[in-house]
Formats: sequence, structure tokens, C-alpha cells
Amino acid sequence: MKFTSFPRLASLRPPPILLPARRFLALRPASPHVARQTIFSAPSYDIPLTQKAVTFDAIRGPITIQKAWPVTQPEELLPGQVLVRVVYTGVCHTDLHAWLGDWPLKNKLPLVGGHEGSGYVAAIGKQTNTDLKIGDAVGIKWLADSCLHCEECRKGYESSCAEAKNSGFSVDGSFQQWAVSYANHLTPLPDGFPLEEAAPILCAGVTVYKALKTAALATGEVVVVPGAGGGLGHLAVQYATAMGYRVIAIDSGEDKRALLASYGVEDFIDYTQGDVVKAVQELTGGHGAHASIVVASGAQAYEQALQYLRPHGALIAVGMPPDGDIKASVFWTVVKSHRIIGSYVGNRQDAIEALEIAAAGKVHTTFTIEDLDNLPSVFERMRAATLNGRVVLDCQ
Ligand SMILES: [Zn+2]
Ligand SMILES: [Zn+2]
Repeated sequence: MKFTSFPRLASLRPPPILLPARRFLALRPASPHVARQTIFSAPSYDIPLTQKAVTFDAIRGPITIQKAWPVTQPEELLPGQVLVRVVYTGVCHTDLHAWLGDWPLKNKLPLVGGHEGSGYVAAIGKQTNTDLKIGDAVGIKWLADSCLHCEECRKGYESSCAEAKNSGFSVDGSFQQWAVSYANHLTPLPDGFPLEEAAPILCAGVTVYKALKTAALATGEVVVVPGAGGGLGHLAVQYATAMGYRVIAIDSGEDKRALLASYGVEDFIDYTQGDVVKAVQELTGGHGAHASIVVASGAQAYEQALQYLRPHGALIAVGMPPDGDIKASVFWTVVKSHRIIGSYVGNRQDAIEALEIAAAGKVHTTFTIEDLDNLPSVFERMRAATLNGRVVLDCQ
């Protein structure tokens, strides 16, 4: 594959936002891809006929590294479609669920998964009404497109649109080098924000940021994050802190305690050591928490949250225990005026805000970079729960 090399457009842009020293540097392994040509934002690209893509034909079927997967050519793009040169893509648990067929929804087959893609606009379909230009840095998120006309879309609940298309599920996603996406829902990336850091924000970051917005808290109020040391949790505590809330983190082990302390979280409850509800009550002067963002996927985390929330407190459901139910007492839900709300990814504006907060240096993802070819191995490690932190795949 060959790219036309042009000077970076970044030199014409405003100076990049200066990020403070990273607490956790991306662990970029020394591998041959480091030496490859870096893909820059460029005014035009030589778009090849074929590309590398990772696909599967059947649920739980073989995952194939395709070396000559067709690239949609600019003249084949429909109005509203955009061809994105994917540079990095995060790997989310949802990608694994799609391959395993875990959800009561049908995905397209064969499928190119992936919904945390960052890259550059390489071509725009004719008659597309958009401000995007060739070379713009953009993100591909879970919500690939929606109608923008229905009641849900008009209210900003775009992910609930009946006509929603989902990247790496109902349409091909970012586990490829050249992805077709949609002008209306591509997220413009902040100037100077590294593409590998943007990738995990596009699903994990947006999801927890939206969940926190949904809790509708005031500055200084207390938010509990069960599962705080995990992929979603470590982002949730940073967004919560950036939004001015006091965080109580729940997880287990000294490693997680140390990780969370590095984000400035002082109140850590090890759920394997004693009574979680009592511990939250003690840390809140006996009043309870204003909200719990449950990113843990254990049913117990939901039961405990309902017990430690103060009156008018909000339980925001994000983590999905298999066959999980939320069991709430009707009496106490009424008398304490509890709010029990599900939160599912975010809309276009949420994505822009989540990226801006991260680009301002207030949120850092811990991730490692691996080659796109490694996806089957990443899935295996995810299934075996031996994966530490998030993996971002290099699609160059
Ligand atoms: Zn995801
Ligand atoms: Zn709609």
C-alpha cells in the first residue's frame, strides 16, 4: 500500500494543546511497525483497491486476517458516507460479545468489527452536506449513523434511534485500514490529540462520561464507582474528578488501590474486605452517596448501590451482568425517591465533550498498542480475563 506523503496539516493548525506529564505512558512494544511510515493528515490519499481487515463469517467462527479485503472506492460512496483511513482502533468487550453472539441482537455477517476507530477523512461521498474535509482527524464510535429526524434523535437520544447503525455490528467497523462511516456521526478529534489516545475515549470514555452526566450531580457531590479499577472504571473516576465530584472507588487489591490513588482518588473500598454498604455510609457521614455509576458487571454491585444511595440518589446502570436483574424494593425506591437509570453510550455532543476533556489532559487511558493482526489473540486474552488494561490496535 502506498500513501502520498504530504507535510502535516497540523503545522497549519493552531498549536496543539500541551498535555501535562502522563501518569501512565502507553506501553508501545518495540515491534517492526514502529519503523513504518506514519500516516499523516493529508490533502489527498492514494486509495488502494484492497487492504488488511479482520473478519469473521459466522458467530464463534474463525477470525481471519484478510490481506486483500476490498476498499470501498470514493466513487462508490453513497451520499452521507465518508471513507476513513483508520490509524488506530480500540478493542472493546462489545466486539468480543458480537463475535460470541452473546447479545439478543443480530449483527451483519461477514463482519468487520471495531467501534473505537481514529483516523483521517480520506474521501467524502458526492452530495454529502458536511463540514468535514479530506485530512480531518475523526473518530468512529459505536453509533455509526442515525436518522436525526425521529423524536429520539431530536431529543439527543441518538443511540436509541430505531434506524441507528452500529459500527462493527450492523455495519463494518474499524478493524480494517479503510472504513466507510457516516458524515453526520463521525466525531471531529481535538487538534493535536494523539490518535491512539482518542481511540479508547470513543466508546469507553464516552460511555462513562454520559453516565456521569445522566446522574445530574452538583459540584462536590459524592459518586461511587463500583469496578473503578477496570477499563470503564478508571476512566469514570477521572471524568468524575474532572467534573468536580468526590469519588469513592470500589474494587479489590492493592494494585487497584494504587492505580486509583494515582488519579487522586483517596477513598477506596476493597469489596473483598468487609461490608461495602457500611463503608460507603461511613465515608459519607452516614448519609450515603448521591450517585453510583455501576460499571462492574456483578449483580451484587447493583444490590449494594441501592442500599448506600442517599434519598434522591441515582443508580446509573452501565455494566451488564449476564442475565442480571436489578432488584429494588418498591417501598424504598418510592420513599427515598431513588432514580434507577440505564445509560447506553452517548450522542454526538457527548463524544465531542468527552474527547475535549481528555485532550485537556484531565483523563488518561491506560493502554498498550499491538498490531491489528493480534485481534484474535486479544479476544482470547479478553475471554480468559488475562488482559490488563485496554488494547489499541495499530492499523498502519
Ligand atoms: Zn464499546
Ligand atoms: Zn432517529
